[in-house]
Amino acid sequence: MSWDVELVCDCCRRPIELPYNFKDGGTYPIGGTNLATLNITYNYSRHLLQGLGIPFENLKNMTPEQAEPYLQKAINYLGTDADSNYWEATKGNAGYALNILLKWVKYAIEKNLSCHFEIY
Ligand SMILES: [Zn+2]
Repeated sequence: MSWDVELVCDCCRRPIELPYNFKDGGTYPIGGTNLATLNITYNYSRHLLQGLGIPFENLKNMTPEQAEPYLQKAINYLGTDADSNYWEATKGNAGYALNILLKWVKYAIEKNLSCHFEIY
C-alpha cells in the first residue's frame, strides 16, 4: 500500500519535468524518470505525520510555496539518512522521501512554475 505523489502543472495536470533523472521510491520506471512523480510506502505514515504536523494527504492541492515550510520542518525533524532497506519505517527513510519532494518544490519556485501536488 502506497501513495503516488506528483507535482503537476496547473493547466495540463501533467507532472512537471525536472532537469535531472532520479530513481527513488517503492516503484519507479527502469532507467528512472525526470518527471515529478514518486511512490511512497504507507510504512512511513507515522513519521510523516510527526514530521509534517499534518496528515501527508493534506499536501494534496498545495502549491510549492504552501508545501515548502511543511517539508522543510519535517526534514529538519526527521533527517534524510535513508536506511538500506526502503521498506523500513525509519525517520530517515521518511525524511529522505520528503527531501525528494522538497527538491521539486525548490525547482518549481526557482522557475516560477504554476503547479500543485496531487496524491493518489
Ligand atoms: Zn501544463
